Amino acid sequence: MSLSGKIAVVTGGSRGIGRAICQRLAALGATVIVNYVSNPAAAEETVTSIQNAGGNAEAVQFNVATSEEIEAAFKKILDAHGRVDILVNNAGITRDGLLMKMKDEQWDEVLNTNLKGVFLCTKAVSRGMMKQRWGRIINITSVIGFAGNAGQANYAAAKAGIVGFTKSVAKELASRGITVNGVAPGYIVTDMTRDLSEEVTNTIKGEIPMGVLGEAEDIAGAVAYLASDDARYVTGQFIHVNGGMFM
Ligand code: NDP
Repeated sequence: MSLSGKIAVVTGGSRGIGRAICQRLAALGATVIVNYVSNPAAAEETVTSIQNAGGNAEAVQFNVATSEEIEAAFKKILDAHGRVDILVNNAGITRDGLLMKMKDEQWDEVLNTNLKGVFLCTKAVSRGMMKQRWGRIINITSVIGFAGNAGQANYAAAKAGIVGFTKSVAKELASRGITVNGVAPGYIVTDMTRDLSEEVTNTIKGEIPMGVLGEAEDIAGAVAYLASDDARYVTGQFIHVNGGMFM
């Protein structure tokens, strides 16, 4: 499996799952654009780890929920690199709360970042991919988008929205040599899940047949496959990486 010569953009690539994806794509030979929104130090750490391993990477700041920032950032990326071959829509946030207590802002923030961000970034790369008749778009959804979760109606709606979006765009772009797929992680150890109480973590483990939370590298492996030529006939699909939690 080689991604040598490919240009990859990973949104939310600075930490957690995104960082592992950046490192894996770079290890396979891609030049990786590590996106972040607010934490330049984490993004630089990711870039440095890739460079120290002999790979190519650079950090680019933009908010995936803001169309003006995306337009400007992708213009710069295209001016510098000429094209984008692989887009991984990974950036995501949680603003949990029970429905009866959920504020409009909690809903809007999560939908704007987790779903609108996927739409805006996909739109930004699709013209170039259509012209070059090759592209890989990989969207990170969640087990919650398939199974639902009390206290996460906003997050589940956004992640389920990614499923419909992925299938629709896969149909639109298939004839141009572009595949659009998703990876649905279960519970993975990152900043997003680190603060869960021991009690909640143990309850979650009880629902996972494998009995442990996953690692970011488990998601990176699935993304690398979907980005590779081995997956050239796979589109509109989802790989569930969840230790058997949801089948
Ligand atoms: P983390 O909280 O560890 O990292 C989130 C990343 O997204 C950071 O790089 C952050 O950048 C970036 N980000 C957040 N908001 C924006 C924004 N508006 N624009 C650009 N970048 C942004 O999350 P995880 O690694 O845990 O999650 C990654 C993806 O995987 C998410 O989509 C999440 O929903 C999904 N997922 C995670 C699971 C888990 O168990 N961890 C389970 C299922 C799905 P910065 O560093 O600048 O803040």
